[in-house]
Amino acid sequence: MTNSVFNVRFAPSPTGELHLGGARTALFNWLFAKYNNGKFFLRIEDTDTKRSREIYTDQILDSLSWLGLNWEEPLIFQSERLNEYKIHIKSLLSSGQLYHCFCSKNDLSELKDKGHFKYPGTCRELDHNDIKTRLNQGASFTYRVRIPDGNTKYEDMIYGSINVDHKELDDFIVIRSDGSPTYNFTAVVDDHYMDISHVIRGEDHVSNTPKQILLYKALGFNVPVFAHLPMILGADGKRLSKRHGAAGVQTFREEGYLPESLNNYLALLGWNPGTDEELFSSDDLIQKFNLSKVQKKGAIWDEKKMHWISGQHMMKTGTDHIIDKLRFNDPDWGKGSSISYLVSIVELLKVRAKSLSEFIAQSDYFFNSPLSYDQEALQKAWGDNSVNTRMQLLAVNLLTLEHWRKDYLQNIFELFIKEHGLGLGKIIMPIRLAVCGTLNGPAVYDILELLGKDETLKRINVALKELPK
Ligand code: GLU
Repeated sequence: MTNSVFNVRFAPSPTGELHLGGARTALFNWLFAKYNNGKFFLRIEDTDTKRSREIYTDQILDSLSWLGLNWEEPLIFQSERLNEYKIHIKSLLSSGQLYHCFCSKNDLSELKDKGHFKYPGTCRELDHNDIKTRLNQGASFTYRVRIPDGNTKYEDMIYGSINVDHKELDDFIVIRSDGSPTYNFTAVVDDHYMDISHVIRGEDHVSNTPKQILLYKALGFNVPVFAHLPMILGADGKRLSKRHGAAGVQTFREEGYLPESLNNYLALLGWNPGTDEELFSSDDLIQKFNLSKVQKKGAIWDEKKMHWISGQHMMKTGTDHIIDKLRFNDPDWGKGSSISYLVSIVELLKVRAKSLSEFIAQSDYFFNSPLSYDQEALQKAWGDNSVNTRMQLLAVNLLTLEHWRKDYLQNIFELFIKEHGLGLGKIIMPIRLAVCGTLNGPAVYDILELLGKDETLKRINVALKELPK
């Protein structure tokens, strides 16, 4: 299918949105392909018609595009390859490597109840006539692989040499009783068809690998190289899931994280460059990423670190670029304001916002006077009427200020507290509350300078009328 030596693939099942583990697998495959001048393919594993949804396929493709993990054509859908699977089943049957299994679900669950977790091979040696009779009677059946004695050994690029005694393997099913093929079988047929040289996927597939290697061999295919990636764990050491509050890629996108931040953080889940360096652009990652530096032990998802990395990327991103992204995310953002005003706001908030949504939320008071005041902040900043007296006096001082600049504003504030024997917080907090509606944000002098004299005094007057209540 291709003439490249390094062909990899990401093979999601479209039964849900792209989660962080899937995105990390896709990223590692993509980085490996990019570094080696290879090709990164996608395969949608949609043979489970009950659970697969087109909407998830679309979501997964959107999320991958957003992350910049561009893939090669053709995009493979397993649901379109059912005939191909039939051909290979025929070949396995004719060489005696599969057998009919007539055990019903009930039979199998009874076996499990009796402690047989491995299929005991009940139908492995049925004689030809017996099979024929049952088939003529319309009995339902599955196809199982006749696993030979021996062992399967392979070199995992991350976990090293792995050797599995076939006694540990089940005669696993490749065709279900409804005629549908199972994952272990379709993955092998397709990895061969797609000329995949390296299979890079989660460690949860380690137990499938010897079964797949047996199938490659049974079908006369070359066996690819395997690299299993450590699981991503929550802080409690359990496999990361929604329970840990881990959102899918779509949510990160909706919340306005930059895709390069997410790629950077995902790359660090199980990999490090061998130095203390933690901040990487996607191009840096292509140069530096190496499977040999992927660890074996599980990688712990750390939201705080993700936020820190996002903040760092935001700081490095050009202001014009951020403005474009903000306007793209919210076409109403900053509408009617001059570009220089928007630039100043972004410059001010850039050091504090980790996502575009945070930018949008945090910049609101630059465009709108507060509609309400944060209750907790109100208690803290404007507890009683004495604040009104103080603010009235300060407002008079501000009114006389001719050059509305942050250094002059700071001067006025400092003189005022000296004159009245107050701590700075006694005026900074109520001013912040009046002007922003909250006590969080960049330096108050910066905010006031940007808002301008008229707007600042207008907001103080509104607060004086409304507070305390
Ligand atoms: N559809 C499988 C999964 O999502 C693919 C595993 C593989 O990469 O072989 O886990």
